[in-house]
Amino acid sequence: MSVSAKEMALVDAATDLIRRRGTAHSHAAAVLCADGQMYLGVNLYHFSGGPCAEVVALGRMLTDTEWPPIVVVAVGRDGRGVVTPCGVCRQILYDRWPDIALVISRGGDLVRVALTELLPEP
Ligand SMILES: [Zn+2]
Repeated sequence: MSVSAKEMALVDAATDLIRRRGTAHSHAAAVLCADGQMYLGVNLYHFSGGPCAEVVALGRMLTDTEWPPIVVVAVGRDGRGVVTPCGVCRQILYDRWPDIALVISRGGDLVRVALTELLPEP
């Protein structure tokens, strides 16, 4: 499915964030909440496995509201652009919000996909 203007705004915000904070972080993420608000986060690298940017953005959202997230996008620094969330993030999202959508890059195009499209069959 093609990306809406609001979803493109998530991509732009995460891209802008990682451009500004990319010296200390490798990824930024943006979450669109069901209430229409956008929440941003950057990863917290630690050798023991710090949280990904998606988890940080979701934590910021959960700090402010009980509304669920509806779309998540992650962007890598150094021009990597939109990246697909890692397996841990996919599992966290599936366990909490199985109907959530992601914006990912597929064949060079940005597309909106259901999280379940990126999970293996049980
Ligand atoms: Zn992750």
